Amino acid sequence: MRLSKFHLRTEKETPADAEIVSHQLMLRAGMLRKLAAGLYTWSPLGLRVLRKVEGIVREEMNRAGAIELQMPTIQPRELWEETGRWQKFGGQLLKIKDRKEAEYCYGPTAEEVITDFARQEINSYKQLPVNFYNIQTKFRDEIRPRFGVMRAREFLMKDAYSFHIDDESLKAEYQNMYDAYSRIFTRLGLKFRAVFADTGAIGGSASHEFHVLADSGEDAIAFSDGSDYAANVELAEAVSPGERAAASETMRKVETPTQKTCEDVAALLGIPLQRTVKSVAIMGADAEGDAQFVLALVRGDHGVNEIKLAKLPGLAEYRLATEAEILEHLGSEPGFLGPVKPAKAIRIIADRSVAAMHDFVVGANEPGYHIAGVNWGRDLPEADDVADIRNVLAGDPSPCGQGTLGIARGIEVGHVFALGRKYSEAMKCTVLDANGKAATPAMGCYGIGVSRIVAAAIEQNHDDAGIVWPDAMAPWQVAVCVINPKNDATVAAAAQALYDELNAAGVETVLDDRGLRPGAMFADIELIGIPHRVVVSERGLAAGTFEYRARRASEAESLDRDALMQRLT
Ligand code: ATP
Ligand code: MG
Ligand code: MG
Ligand code: MG
Repeated sequence: MRLSKFHLRTEKETPADAEIVSHQLMLRAGMLRKLAAGLYTWSPLGLRVLRKVEGIVREEMNRAGAIELQMPTIQPRELWEETGRWQKFGGQLLKIKDRKEAEYCYGPTAEEVITDFARQEINSYKQLPVNFYNIQTKFRDEIRPRFGVMRAREFLMKDAYSFHIDDESLKAEYQNMYDAYSRIFTRLGLKFRAVFADTGAIGGSASHEFHVLADSGEDAIAFSDGSDYAANVELAEAVSPGERAAASETMRKVETPTQKTCEDVAALLGIPLQRTVKSVAIMGADAEGDAQFVLALVRGDHGVNEIKLAKLPGLAEYRLATEAEILEHLGSEPGFLGPVKPAKAIRIIADRSVAAMHDFVVGANEPGYHIAGVNWGRDLPEADDVADIRNVLAGDPSPCGQGTLGIARGIEVGHVFALGRKYSEAMKCTVLDANGKAATPAMGCYGIGVSRIVAAAIEQNHDDAGIVWPDAMAPWQVAVCVINPKNDATVAAAAQALYDELNAAGVETVLDDRGLRPGAMFADIELIGIPHRVVVSERGLAAGTFEYRARRASEAESLDRDALMQRLT
């Protein structure tokens, strides 16, 4: 590619409305152009990077034996009624009507569509196991789209869905996908961590999130300094999944509304009270993973002294509760709520210590999808609150029994789920087993935020001059910068020859033949993060050298042609 024939439009100034560095740099590098809230056009430059990520994801999915297909972005209401998610999914589901008034949604995920596909396409256990994936645009009407493509409304996701005759097969594929994800993020050159995650409303037995580690991350993850244990904070606070299921079961038995002392509640839930809690809202999930909301509000500065429990049936649709609703269900006078913030009265049941939440309650970030996905940074607006929460767990003994917990921040870029039979059962998807009997297949689902990865990579890899792409994601590996190409035919020809040679050797190279002043040209090439820069100048040619600089290096070097080619090929 010659930059003179490409569309590159960079900016010097940091855009005022971009809060985090990846968003700022993507805008400055001209990778994105905003259309409306959470909607972005990927420029030709941005698209090159996006396609790199997509390509690696596709290669590793294929290598892992998954099979690509393509599902539509628009999905009919009827399918979502079958699983109950038309109501349950909540506000993220963008509902639309066609000219005949038939209702559809813009797909935020595709469990329904793939299960519908499977129930038509798969009738024998002999066709199993199978794992279908697609890389397709998704839409989620996020409450707060922000940070550019990090939390967009329309975004690119790789989503895969596997079907199995038994749980053992599902377990094997879950591990296979876990390994594939590890390869993907390793190849992308990202520092990442797989953490235990909550299966929440989606149910199922196992779930891991893959996080790119970055201080700007919206998620807090807890990890042990004495073992491999790592979990998202929600889960690190929680008892083990089995214990939590039992606790949820107990919570279901709690009569409503009822007044309990803190000790009563602790006894009911089988958890020792260790924390000073001013107010807390607790939510549990039942055996199917459907939410049962139980709200507990606690007051008292040192030691908890009062808890009220109430089921909030209105919340079963995964709406966020208003303060008025909470009060109505609790039958409580407003004063009782004290400083609890309205609107987000959901908190997963936690912990050997009741989740310590100060003066606020947290909303599930993913109505109807995974209820535990509360993100501190986003859902807790005040920095002090976030710091509070982070301090809650740090230094605690790790739930795994080895080491103590530290807290890091991460960006969720992937998520693997052992779903079980929630969707296949609801949608009556069956296959004939070895005995000729109808069996309901177990399912897994596996998502990767392809477009989010681009932003996450920048959060991890940048400096004052701009983006520093990991090689695998760079739009080009090498930029050949030509000094004064319009007036110096010899230099232009030498640059062209080098450019041709590099491309012929399989090194993706871009020729900067725009004729900019060196300073402006170098600033652009650094800003857009090209890993290797070669300058072709009259002076260099006279000395038989090229000026070479790796994006991460502090100094340029003079290399002759052989040394240069050796370095780059
Ligand atoms: P988050 O917790 O950040 O809201 P999620 O848990 O709702 O994400 P999943 O349903 O697990 O997301 O979807 C799979 C992947 O899609 C996520 O791991 C993430 O990388 C990506 N993703 C989800 N929501 C968005 C979004 N609004 N913008 C960009 N990528 C997203
Ligand atoms: Mg979400
Ligand atoms: Mg999440
Ligand atoms: Mg997730």
